[in-house]
Amino acid sequence: MNISILVFGKNNFIATLPDQIRFPTAFSVEVIDNLIQAVSQIQIRLPDIILVQASLDGSMELCSWLKDQTKLSWIYCILFEDRPQQLTDRNMYGWQREFEMNAEALNQGADAYIWHLIEEKTDHSLAKLSANHGLILAQLTVCLQKVQKYRDLIRTNDMLSAIALADSLTELNNRRALEWDLPRQIKRARTQKTSLSLIILDVDHFKKVNDTHGHLVGDRILQVLSQRLRHNLRCQDTAFRYGGEEFVILLANTTDEEALVVARRLNRVISDEPFSLSNQLTINITISLGTACLKAEDDDQGESLLYRADQCLLHAKTAGRNRVISSNYLSHVSHLKAVSS
Ligand code: GH3
Ligand code: MG
Ligand code: MG
Repeated sequence: MNISILVFGKNNFIATLPDQIRFPTAFSVEVIDNLIQAVSQIQIRLPDIILVQASLDGSMELCSWLKDQTKLSWIYCILFEDRPQQLTDRNMYGWQREFEMNAEALNQGADAYIWHLIEEKTDHSLAKLSANHGLILAQLTVCLQKVQKYRDLIRTNDMLSAIALADSLTELNNRRALEWDLPRQIKRARTQKTSLSLIILDVDHFKKVNDTHGHLVGDRILQVLSQRLRHNLRCQDTAFRYGGEEFVILLANTTDEEALVVARRLNRVISDEPFSLSNQLTINITISLGTACLKAEDDDQGESLLYRADQCLLHAKTAGRNRVISSNYLSHVSHLKAVSS
């Protein structure tokens, strides 16, 4: 486990830490004593653990800033209390004040609070130092366990997300992934004032393929078709298996005309080269496609955009299949009809 620790403290503080932290072998340690540098370093390096010297300027700001950052709030932060005033307060007002200070530190954003007041060297202070080191190392062990658990959790989470959003047959993104991605792409296109287009396509007479050659051959065709689609898309395009033998492709930064070019290319990529499934079996496959481009009046979820593309797909089917119809073309035709009637 490649653990990194950032110490926000001065050299005199570092000198009082256990050897395991000062001369680390199991993790890397970086020392910074300036708040601005610490903040930028944390954002760049994302340490797992931060040790904070309370008497250093900016220590409390650092703890609370850390906990306010959603992406950084998992970093385990230990605040080391070395402010002489706090010791005086504790001696004067007793345990009650100490509890209050503990609570304050945790409320400020620290995950743990350790009293770290190192006095002149006496037998008594040496015993206290070794007890203090025992506590610091125990806290460190807890941190390391938490970091390990957090990393395991992230890995499992990534794996589950990949499973939940992928189609197991074709390895393309599934419909759930589209429902998640489409509103986000619409939002991005609107914020960045770029165009967004969508292609929906369906395999022609696929039932007949299944009926003639069986479902396993049908499955294999869907896999090969998905590979062809994937290999013929640009990096900004994302393909989804929408269901059965229907696929959706989101084309970021793409106008109506450009989407039509992409769709025509995909149409040829499928129809021009027969699907060779074995030495004995080669099958001709065609697809029908509909395209649509995001309009200002479209809803945020993408339902109307999908609907327009789907209407075009229906027209492509009724017009004879193995072709592309764009929503631009459809609205042009209905406009002509309205004018001539
Ligand atoms: P059209 O050109 O009008 O789209 O005709 P079609 O035969 O493709 O359409 P229809 O909706 O009648 O049939 C779709 C077929 O796709 C029926 C279904 O069994 C098959 N299918 C859907 N999902 C899968 C799958 O995962 N594997 C296989 N092998 N077949 C599938
Ligand atoms: Mg079909
Ligand atoms: Mg279908």
